[in-house]
Amino acid sequence: MTLDLNINDLTRVVAADREHVWHHLSQHKQYETIDPRVFVEGKGMKLWDATGREFLDAVSGGVWTVNVGYGRESIANAVRDQLIKLNYYAGAAGTVPGALFAQRLIEKMPGMSRVYYSNSGSEANEKVYKMVRQISARHYGGAKQKILYRDRDYHGTTLGTLATSGQGQRAAQYGPYPDGFVMVPHCLEYRAQWNVENYGERAADAIEEVILREGPDTVGAIVLEPVTAGGGVITPPEGYWQRVQEICRKYNILLHIDEVVCGLGRTGTWFGYQQYGIEPDFVTMAKGVASGYAAISCTVTTERVFDMFKDAPEDGMSYFRDISTFGGCTAGPVAALENMRIIEDENLLENCTRMGERVMANLNALMEKHSVIGDVRGKGLFCGAELVADRKTKEPMDEKKVQAVVADCLAQGVIIGATNRSMEGLNNTLTLSPALIATADDIDRITDAMDGALTRVFS
Ligand code: PLP
Repeated sequence: MTLDLNINDLTRVVAADREHVWHHLSQHKQYETIDPRVFVEGKGMKLWDATGREFLDAVSGGVWTVNVGYGRESIANAVRDQLIKLNYYAGAAGTVPGALFAQRLIEKMPGMSRVYYSNSGSEANEKVYKMVRQISARHYGGAKQKILYRDRDYHGTTLGTLATSGQGQRAAQYGPYPDGFVMVPHCLEYRAQWNVENYGERAADAIEEVILREGPDTVGAIVLEPVTAGGGVITPPEGYWQRVQEICRKYNILLHIDEVVCGLGRTGTWFGYQQYGIEPDFVTMAKGVASGYAAISCTVTTERVFDMFKDAPEDGMSYFRDISTFGGCTAGPVAALENMRIIEDENLLENCTRMGERVMANLNALMEKHSVIGDVRGKGLFCGAELVADRKTKEPMDEKKVQAVVADCLAQGVIIGATNRSMEGLNNTLTLSPALIATADDIDRITDAMDGALTRVFS
C-alpha cells in the first residue's frame, strides 16, 4: 500500500493540524478563530493550500529555501533511487553521494577544501563555534576562544547560536547563554551610526575597536552574514568587506561566513561572499543546498583549518570530537547534487541576477510612488523594502501596518515576507526572495501586489 498524501478530506487535515501541530514562529491564539493554513501542493513558483487556493510564492517556502522551485521530479527520483540503494551510514565512514557532493561543492569554492555534514543552519554554525574553541584549546592554550558576531545578524536557534543573535527578540527569553560571544555594530548605512563618507570602512573599523577592547589574543573568530537576512536584508556598504578581511588577517582571526540564506545562488553567485571577494576560513550553508527537498547543511573549511585537527593523533583528543547522526543521510547530498545540476543547466545564477535587477527596479519605482518606503536594498533575488512612518526621521513603521501589507498581498494570492518581530523596532522591512526560476511576469505580479497593498494600507 502506498501512502496517499492527496487525500480528499482536507478539512480533516486542517482539523488535525489545528489540534496537534505547533507551528514555527506562530502565536496560536489566532487559530481559535481562524483555520491554520495548510499547503498541499507546489509546482514551480506556485503553491496550493487545503482550500484549493493558489498562491505565487515570493519567499521560496517561507524562509528563503526552495531555490529551484517546487515539484522537481528529477530531485525526487534521484533521492528515491539513492534511498533504495543506501539510505544512510554515519560516523567514521563515507557514502557515495556524500563524497561526490563534497567534491562538486568544493569546485565552486576556490580556497576551501573540507565539508562537514549536518542537518540545519544552526547546527552547521555550532560546528564552527566548536571547531574554533577546539583550535583555541589545542593551539592557543585556551586563550583565543571568543567569537564575535554582529548586531542584526542571526545564526540559529540553538543556545550556542542564540548566544550570537544580533536580534535581541530571538534570544530574550532563553538565557543564560554561554560566555565568550561578543557583539560588534551592524553596517546598515541607512541607519548610520557614524557621520562619515567612507561608511563601509568605518563600520568595519568598529569591529577592530571591539577586537582591541577585548584583546586580539582572546578573539578566535568572527561570524557574519554576507548579506544580513532576517535583520532587514542589509547589503554591505562599499569597502566594508575588504576592510573586514584585512582586520581578520591582521589579528589572526578566523572569518566565518554564514551562507545559510545566501548560499547556492540566492544573490546571483554560488555564494554571497563571492560577490565581495572575501576569502573566508569557514562557510556554513543550509537552506538552498537541497532547496528543501531533503535536510542537509554543510560546514566548509580550508585545508589549513582541517590540518589543525591532526596535531597529536596519539592523544585521542586532537580530532573533531563531534557527530551529527543525520549527517549520514544520503538523501541530503544526493538531492544537493541534483539541485546544483539544475542551477547550472538552467542558468539560474544568471536568471537570479537579471530578475534581481528587475525586482530592484520595480521596488525603486514603488519607492518613488509610496513615501512609506524609506530604503530599498538587495542582491540577486534577495531584496527588501524598509517601511518608515516618516522619511525624514526614519521612524520605523508600526509592525501592524507592515503585517497589513503582507496580509493584503496574501489576499491577492502573493506570499511576501517581513523581517521578524523585534524589540529594536526593526520589523519594518518587506522581503522578497522568490525561487531562482522566477520570470519577469512573476516579478511584476509580485511588485504589483505590493503596490496595491501599499496603496490600500496607507491611503
Ligand atoms: N543562519 C541564518 C543566516 C539564517 O537565516 C538561519 C535561519 O533562518 C539560520 C542560520 C538557522 O538555520 P536553521 O533554521 O536551519 O537552523
